[in-house]
This record gives sequence, structure tokens and C-alpha cells, in this order.
Amino acid sequence: MSATVMDGTAVANELLRDTGRRAAEFERAHGRKATLATVLVGDNPASHTYVRMKTHRCRRAGLASQRHDLASEATTAQVVDRVQQLSTDPVVDGILVQHPLPASIDQRRVFEAITPAKDVDGVTSASFAAMAFGQPGFASCTPAGIMHLLDTYNVPLAGRHTVVVGRSPILGKPLGMLLLARDTTLTYCHSKTTDLPDVVARADILIAAVGRPELIRGEWIKPGAVVIDAGYNPGNIGDVDYDTASTRASLITPVPGGVGPMTIAVLLAQTLDAAHAAANKVRLPSN
Ligand code: NAP
Repeated sequence: MSATVMDGTAVANELLRDTGRRAAEFERAHGRKATLATVLVGDNPASHTYVRMKTHRCRRAGLASQRHDLASEATTAQVVDRVQQLSTDPVVDGILVQHPLPASIDQRRVFEAITPAKDVDGVTSASFAAMAFGQPGFASCTPAGIMHLLDTYNVPLAGRHTVVVGRSPILGKPLGMLLLARDTTLTYCHSKTTDLPDVVARADILIAAVGRPELIRGEWIKPGAVVIDAGYNPGNIGDVDYDTASTRASLITPVPGGVGPMTIAVLLAQTLDAAHAAANKVRLPSN
């Protein structure tokens, strides 16, 4: 058997086109572009690349972007102060704090300074609670992107066993909340899991979110399973051994071109949601 490849680039492009249409409508109605503000602290080259990509995507979709660069010596209080200013700035619709922040900064305190109505990256406790309780609010972008991919490919979730490998606050953990809300039977694995191959072998849907190249061996995959690889390791290598896994899975995401493109697409879509909700004084969409 050879798996069908889930084309994240095509799905993301469709979402970006839809966001572009909504951005043009917003500008016509409100006389300004929906705006994403990005806060970047320090000089991590990968973070600079991600921020440039996001700026470029904003421009192409018809959103405005602001960039707020702070030196790596900035204190937590200084970064919090900047985020609080953006939280009350009426022309800023969404706020993205590029992470990881330098180790000297209290990342959680910085995230919590984002007002939930502008938390388009879904990193605050309020957004996590909204995901967990199915309330209005923003989802974390990569998890929401994975859900969008699963839905685009009509993957049934209710009653099926989904294994999420990884429990980080921005990826594995919130993804589990979104999956549970859709009635999947959920198992989380992490670095202390002792029987990873056995648990993976029971997954109808496997989601790898670890950051360890090819940690998940292809022969562990249950024949016919759906495999989503969110891992992105140097050399464009995922967390799943793709060559073997793709001979056993029914659907699989490639790396790159699977989960990766979905994250920015969701970020921009949620910025439009934030702009629309604020301008029209309506509730945010529910998770
Ligand atoms: P992270 O914060 O380092 O979390 C990694 C998770 O994997 C942790 O929960 C850790 O367990 C678990 N883990 C580590 N070693 C393991 C092992 N041997 N067996 C089972 N679990 C193990 O990473 P992250 O930020 O979630 O990112 C994970 C991957 O996704 C990375 O490759 C990253 O580049 C990629 N990513 C992609 C996107 C995108 O846009 N496509 C976005 C975000 C992240 P503990 O909790 O026990 O430490």
C-alpha cells in the first residue's frame, strides 16, 4: 500500500486565498488593513527568518504587519510593556510574540500580557481554556492547522484512537484539547513514555510533535493509519521515518509541505477573525 500524501501547501494556499478575500472586504469596510504586530526579541536567525516569512505572507494576503524588534538584553518587564502597549493599540488586531524567547525572559509572563482578543497565535492561558472548554477564542496555530488538514481530508475522529506524541504548551497539549472536543479517544506520549512503539502501533491517527528526527519508525505504524508529522528538524527531516511509514499509512503528511505551511495560514486567518470581531463588536469564533 502507498499512502495518499496530504498536501499542506495546497490546503494552506486555499486558506490564504480566503483570508485575502476577507482582508480586502475588511479594508473596504473599515478604511484600513487588518494588522498583525510581531514582537521579536534577540537575534535568533531562525526566528528572524520566520518573522520575515510572516511579513511577506501578510503583504501577499493584503494584511498590514508591524514589526517590533527588541534587543536580546531586553528584560521581561520591557517585553511585557511592549506587548501591553500593542494590546491596547486600536490599529493592532493581532499580536504574535515570536518564540522561543531568549532564556533570560519569562516567556509565560510575556504571553499573558497579550490581550486574549488579539491572541491570534493562541498562546495565552485564556486561549488554552477556550480550546479546552470549546469557548470563543483563538486556537494555537499549528494545532488548528492540523485540525484543518484532518477535516480537509475528511478524516473521521469520533471514537477513533488518536496518539499525540509530544505535549508542549504550543503544540501537543492544545492539539489534544481540540481533538478531544471532536470525540476522539486520545493518548498523549512524551519523553517519559516507556512503551512508545506499542502505543504508536495502536493509533488510528498518529500525530508526531516531538522534534527528534525520525524518532517514530515506519514499522510501528498500524496499517491504514493516518500519520501527521508536525516535526521539523534540520535537513527538512520530520519526526516520522517517512519512507517506511508511507508504505503502511493510508494518509500521510510530507516534511516539508505538510503541517508547516498551515501554521502561517491559520495565523493570518485568525488575525482577520480578530479584526472582524473588534471592528464589528461581535464575539470571536468558537473553537
Ligand atoms: P518541544 O517544546 O521541545 O516539545 C517536544 C515534546 O516532545 C515534549 O513534550 C517532549 O516530552 C516530547 N519528547 C521529547 N523526546 C521524546 C521522546 N524520545 N519520546 C516521546 N516524546 C518525546 O517542541 P515543540 O515546540 O512542541 O515542537 C515539536 C516539533 O514540532 C519540532 O520539530 C518543531 O520544529 C515542530 N513545530 C512545527 C511547527 C510548524 O509550524 N510546522 C510549529 C511548532 C513546532 P516532555 O514534555 O516529557 O519533555
